[in-house]
Amino acid sequence: MTPSTTPAAALATITVTRKPVQCEAMQFLATYDNAERILSWMNAKAGWTRDMLTDPPVTYYYGQLTIRSDRGDLHAVMGDWVICTESGATFQPIPDAMFRSLYDIPEDAAKAVAAGRDTLTKLATFGARCLIESRRELADLDGGWMQDTAVKCGVLIEHVMTTPCGPSCRCATDGAFEADGDAFVCYRYPDSVRELVREIPASGGRTA
Ligand SMILES: [Zn+2]
Repeated sequence: MTPSTTPAAALATITVTRKPVQCEAMQFLATYDNAERILSWMNAKAGWTRDMLTDPPVTYYYGQLTIRSDRGDLHAVMGDWVICTESGATFQPIPDAMFRSLYDIPEDAAKAVAAGRDTLTKLATFGARCLIESRRELADLDGGWMQDTAVKCGVLIEHVMTTPCGPSCRCATDGAFEADGDAFVCYRYPDSVRELVREIPASGGRTA
């Protein structure tokens, strides 16, 4: 229908369609490493560097992400998405359900995000069990217990082998393999965990 151009149109409701907007987005998972990525992404977008004498546009403190905006501080909680318009001028936290209703997420990206979240959950479960055990026993954690727990949490996989995986695998060097050819177990990260572990700086350096 052709819109009315009569003055009376100014007194009536009109129907409008929101223009499509392209944004960059990251989901806030409230882990330190995830927050670090979000901070460096957002601060770079906003053109903020550490040597500036201004507060950063975004900060992370004890599980909460705070974004400074014209409308005051905006807070993201775990699971929220942070979006950034193409110009880098606007940041906004959006709850997960609302984000999914407003934006089309490319299928590949959605799968990658879900897989990453799943892997983080496994690592978090392992971490939580270690923390609980350390508080319960108030002692050093036993290496065998940690290995079993890692297997139960899916962050290590048992591979039954009769020869070492390769010269660089720990099973070739740490004594698991006996030259008499009996089966032994090689413990390895699943690919998803290895990929994430590479991204996370361990104390004293990165680990492969
Ligand atoms: Zn091996």
